[in-house]
Amino acid sequence: MSLLVQKFGGTSVADAEKILAAARRAIQAHQRGQQVLVVVSARGHTTDELVEMAKEITAYPPAREMDMLLSTGEQISVALMAMAIQALGVPAISFTGAQIGLVTDSFHTKARIRNISTDRMVQALGEGKIVIVAGFQGIDENYNITTLGRGGSDTTAVALAAVLGADACEIYTDVDGVYTTDPRVVPEARKIDRISYDEMLELASLGAGVMHSRSIEFAKKYDVPIHVRSSFSDAPGTWIVAEADAKRLGVTVTGAALAKDEARITILGAPDRPGIVHSLFHTIAANNIVVDMIVQNVATEGTTEVSFTVATGDLAETILAAEAAAKAIGAQAVTHKAEVAKVSVVGLGMRTHTGVATMMFEALALEGINIEMITTSEIKISVLVDRPIAAEALRAVHRAFGLEGWENSVEAPFTLEKSRVRTKRLTADAVNGSSATPSTPPPGMEELVISGVELDESQGRVTLFDVPDQPGYAGRVFRKIAEAGIFVDMIVQNISTSGKTHLSFTVPSGSAERAAEVAKGEGPGKVSLEPKIAKLSVLGVGMRTHTGVATRMFGALAAKGINIALINTSEVRINVATDSSRGREALQCLRETFALPEE
Ligand code: ASP
Ligand code: MG
Repeated sequence: MSLLVQKFGGTSVADAEKILAAARRAIQAHQRGQQVLVVVSARGHTTDELVEMAKEITAYPPAREMDMLLSTGEQISVALMAMAIQALGVPAISFTGAQIGLVTDSFHTKARIRNISTDRMVQALGEGKIVIVAGFQGIDENYNITTLGRGGSDTTAVALAAVLGADACEIYTDVDGVYTTDPRVVPEARKIDRISYDEMLELASLGAGVMHSRSIEFAKKYDVPIHVRSSFSDAPGTWIVAEADAKRLGVTVTGAALAKDEARITILGAPDRPGIVHSLFHTIAANNIVVDMIVQNVATEGTTEVSFTVATGDLAETILAAEAAAKAIGAQAVTHKAEVAKVSVVGLGMRTHTGVATMMFEALALEGINIEMITTSEIKISVLVDRPIAAEALRAVHRAFGLEGWENSVEAPFTLEKSRVRTKRLTADAVNGSSATPSTPPPGMEELVISGVELDESQGRVTLFDVPDQPGYAGRVFRKIAEAGIFVDMIVQNISTSGKTHLSFTVPSGSAERAAEVAKGEGPGKVSLEPKIAKLSVLGVGMRTHTGVATRMFGALAAKGINIALINTSEVRINVATDSSRGREALQCLRETFALPEE
């Protein structure tokens, strides 16, 4: 029998009327003949109020007791929801996280799910009941109540959909879907009808407003189709689905995002030797600082600049750590800028399209906006700009890609029935580790999964030295490259020192010479060409919410004495370029580091 998971957020269960409305939705699905499992959040601002209550008692509430307190919010909701459904004449039963055996690790207030026993839920569903489960909570192996971190009910819902093999997970919320960008910043933003897991993860700052990003990582790992929609209307919302279902012809960019809260740190004059970036990021990670963008461009005269961004609130601490690291590695200096922001465009269509970068850079140039740093992934281009003009930058790129006129696609919208992807349904046993089929289960459902390490030996690198740090430069260079029909993969630009910067990019080896030729016409300075490089990427689910992947990657390469020439990052991958002769060896050592099997 088909099963539907429905999750109702805090605003969707804020008062009796809303709870009854949510109950009716669950009943409708039940009457269509589906089994229905409902996950609820705490009502309205309950969780915030509980946090306040604790603060009135002590400034430092113990994390264990905090979880005991916070979990009560969801317990109220499940009981009321079960009463509502029963009052409307349909059998229902409520459960806490502990009652369904949702077992987590013991990191109170930010626990991760380890496994879920499905017996009790399956039995109740089989009896024709609508099952209501408290979101956001679980127990550790010693029966201590834990919570999954703020917004964690989404993760509960997707996890239950995964273990129960639900057809889909509906997320009912107070917005009607995921938008092409933040409508508060860009009023012309449009609702997206479907988006892939990776696009959603790459659009982190945009997606995070709508869904807990851990839940998307989860959905990707277990292939759970998600439908984000409004609790207050019947209009279809946004489907978050596998790539094959999300792809659409004629659309290169799906959304644009702004991460306002960034601060940039640069290590100047770092020696260009194996191990340097590792030692730097090891120090940063040891201080528990989460790093966002990392950019390193090719070295000149034996030294290089490494830039990275952190949340503004972590800046002071990061500067101290970076200064200590700089001293230890013999770098010249550490500089920083507190008021920067990251503007990104994301789209599956970029994989097979030239000229997306050009369009973005030109749109910014047209507004006179200077690009401080550039980093790319397969489906994302991010630039760092001054924070005061960031909103303007976002509007400019949103317009340039025609995102306000969204329905350009010639493909039919996604429907669950037409889904081209066969979801890899999990049996509960497989998740719980009590069965050998279908494959060895992950150690914990929510562990960080490095899904792959890739080696690309097909590309060469072009670097333009001493390009002026002015609006329009990158746009002109990539316009020429696009006009020459050359496909660009990685783009790396670090911040400028003394008004000049270097711009590196990779292209297919066969086009590298021509690309260098074309670029020469655009630059006052030297152009260098490395006809063959090895590009290594580590990609994974959970990279955004785990620290230290970069550190492990750089550490593994350092241990082999492999020098890193270029670095760029996105939310779901870290790319480096190394000497082409070391590619195979680097691939092997990264596979070992992340315990990935030989292909
Ligand atoms: N009630 C929890 C919170 O407010 C969990 C959730 O709503 O997802 O963070
Ligand atoms: Mg939420």
